[in-house]
Amino acid sequence: MLSCKQATEWMSRRMDEELPLSRRMGLRLHLMICKGCRNFSRQMDLLRQVSRKFPHREQ
Ligand SMILES: [Zn+2]
Repeated sequence: MLSCKQATEWMSRRMDEELPLSRRMGLRLHLMICKGCRNFSRQMDLLRQVSRKFPHREQ
């Protein structure tokens, strides 16, 4: 089973690159059983929306 450390690492990587399907599945499974990582995931989503609204680097 995925560890919380691994899960959060993959979640932050997900902001920059698309994860392989196997990792996305593992992550999803972990989020179903782990409340802490669910909260983390929600925060990452918020961060991502904010950084989309206010891009801090030129494309
Ligand atoms: Zn976790």
